[in-house]
Amino acid sequence: QAFFRSNLSLLLERVGSGKESLSFMRRRMRRLAAQWAAAARRLDERLRGHYREQKRILVHVGFLTEESGDVFSPKVLKGGPLGEMVQWADILTTLHVLGHNLKISLSVKELQGSLGVPPGRGSCPLIGPLPFDLIYTDYHGLQQMKQHMGLSFRQHRCHIRVIDTFGTEPAYNNEEYATLNGYRTNWGYWNLNCKQYMTMFPHTPDNSFMGFVTEELNQTERLMIQRDKVNNMAVVYGKEASMWKGKEKLLSILHRYMDIHGTVYYEAQRPPEVPAFVRNHGLLPQQELQQLLRKAKLFLGFGFPYEGPAPLEAIANGCVFLQPKFSPPRSSVNHEFFRGKPTSREVSSQHPYTEQYIGKPHVITVDFNNSQEFETAVQDILKDKVEPFIPSEYTCEGMLERVNAYIQHQDFCRHSSPFPTANDSRSWPGNPPSPFLQLPNSTALIWAPNITAPACWPPRSALRLFLSLEDSSCVKTCQDAGLICEPAFFPFINSIEAFSGLNAQCESLEAEKNHVFPAIHVDRRECFQQKEPLLFSCAGVSAKHQRLCPCRDYIHGQVALCRDCL
Ligand code: UDP
Repeated sequence: QAFFRSNLSLLLERVGSGKESLSFMRRRMRRLAAQWAAAARRLDERLRGHYREQKRILVHVGFLTEESGDVFSPKVLKGGPLGEMVQWADILTTLHVLGHNLKISLSVKELQGSLGVPPGRGSCPLIGPLPFDLIYTDYHGLQQMKQHMGLSFRQHRCHIRVIDTFGTEPAYNNEEYATLNGYRTNWGYWNLNCKQYMTMFPHTPDNSFMGFVTEELNQTERLMIQRDKVNNMAVVYGKEASMWKGKEKLLSILHRYMDIHGTVYYEAQRPPEVPAFVRNHGLLPQQELQQLLRKAKLFLGFGFPYEGPAPLEAIANGCVFLQPKFSPPRSSVNHEFFRGKPTSREVSSQHPYTEQYIGKPHVITVDFNNSQEFETAVQDILKDKVEPFIPSEYTCEGMLERVNAYIQHQDFCRHSSPFPTANDSRSWPGNPPSPFLQLPNSTALIWAPNITAPACWPPRSALRLFLSLEDSSCVKTCQDAGLICEPAFFPFINSIEAFSGLNAQCESLEAEKNHVFPAIHVDRRECFQQKEPLLFSCAGVSAKHQRLCPCRDYIHGQVALCRDCL
């Protein structure tokens, strides 16, 4: 059984030091220790009576290994991507606080030692059972494991969880399909269950949302913020001078109304090229950045970096986040930064999560090419009074709750095909009895089968079946119904019964490998089941098809979990 831990000393010892990246993580862990302990107490209280199994967990942080070049550590003091460091620090703390048996590996040698592969044996398969229930790593680590576990990698990969900032969609993950259909990238095609990829924000529900935490305020700090907020103070989001390039016009508009502060890294001999009216503090330690944000009214994004932690920190400290809308949205198809990433996700602004899940008055998203719109937004922000806000999924308690649910319930090693596919010897056409019932006053169908299927998480009682419009993904279809797409339910709706429940009037039914199936061809009324379970995809879209979409409810502020998921 796992017991909550409120003391982080053992964890801090294991993380070690010596590299700037590790020191950054340790500082963060120490600073948030009290917050984690309080959250653990509250969650422990709420979960009383739930048995929690203690797992043996290996955390192999691939990008910090010398073998992958460890490109990050030298950049920590220069404003390099700190978001990853924030997330790994929080993941390690979560696993520790949840009471699991944790081993941390930061080199290939440690990885080999942990897995029981003798050094120098290259790709010799690991002998005997895997000594861990779960392995958390990243794409670099995945590659290293494949190299050093030999054949046993295939056998054990269901235990792996990949920390993957931007997400990996099913079409890119399935090797054969990606290769044949132009979805092959440098990252994807690992043939994992896509829920094994864990993202920084809840992008597509095809992946699991891991997240990170935002520092919370106590009552005294809230009062201090109210007292000390400087109404005309703005902080610009951007640790590197390149992020400020070409923004002079916007800065000069903003400067008419507000004092502008920056935290741009610079070397003593070469101050960064930011306008003279900007007060640049240089890259600040996280704690000092928090203090700056507590005073500021506005946090201004210039469009890059995408989807980092800083806007959530600013909103948590009572700032309004003003950011540019991207029109057309940016994606791997039209934008260099996203090119080669294993996702077709369309990024509608610098930080779509804050735009969609938080919104006004905390987040204002406007077209920055329209100076008038920008100026009006600044004027409105000066008039508004905004309270600090953190979505519960970004609090320590929220993260502990979510990751605990994953650890206790997600199992990708169990092979089960709970539902018959077109290959089963069922006759068609015909009108089989449907296990789906119409919900009163709704277009949704609920699952009420009279056949027994293996247990599933999330529980099947949460399933609501919808038919999408053409050219619409299941992500959008479920969202429009106030629900979220749940890929774990696809096997239950990949059936003749689901089509007939939706009154699809199929001219024919076939099973094929296609990441938008199950679906109906709009013109030809042909119905298609999915033949390859790895291709079940919430994200998939096709102009010619209406998709069958499995949706479920979610807890407000904890989108990863349904009401009966705990
Ligand atoms: N940060 C910092 N000092 C600064 C600016 C940023 O410590 O002067 C931290 C910030 O608190 C945040 C992290 O850097 O948690 C990541 O910031 P960002 O959102 O820019 O994401 P990134 O692009 O680094 O992943």
